[in-house]
Amino acid sequence: MSKREDDCIFCRIAKGEIKSEKVLESNNFFAVLDIHPKSEGHTLIIPKKHFVTLLDIPNNLGQELLEFIKKVASNLMDQKRADGFNIVMNNLECAGQIVRHAHIHVIPRNEGDGIIGMV
Ligand code: 5GP
Ligand code: ZN
Repeated sequence: MSKREDDCIFCRIAKGEIKSEKVLESNNFFAVLDIHPKSEGHTLIIPKKHFVTLLDIPNNLGQELLEFIKKVASNLMDQKRADGFNIVMNNLECAGQIVRHAHIHVIPRNEGDGIIGMV
C-alpha cells in the first residue's frame, strides 16, 4: 500500500478505519452521507479503489457506476427526501476537488430550497 492511500480519507473509510454512514454498496463502489451536507440526504458515491478523478475510473466500471448513481438518486426520491437532485463531480483543485479520491455528489433538491453554487 502506497503512502498516498494510507493518507487518503476515503480509502480509510473504504477500509472501515474511519466510521461513516454507508447507505449502499456494490462490488466497486459505496455510498456515504456527506459530513457537511448541502441538503438532507447529500450522498457521496466513492469507488473502493483509489482513483483521483473521473479520468482514472476504468471504463469497464461505467455501467456499474451509472446503475449505482441511479439507485442512490431514486432511493432519495422514493424516500420522499427529494423532488429532484443534482449530480456533481469536482475534478482536481481548480474545479473545487478537496478530497483527492474520486467521488460523485448526489444532492437532493426541493422546490425553493435556495441552494446555489453547485459548481
Ligand atoms: P469535494 O470538494 O472534494 O468534491 O468534496 C469533498 C466532500 O467530502 C465534501 O462535501 C466534504 O463534506 C466531504 N467529506 C470530507 N471528509 C469526509 C469524511 O470524513 N466523511 C464524509 N462522509 N464526508 C467527508
Ligand atoms: Zn483514496
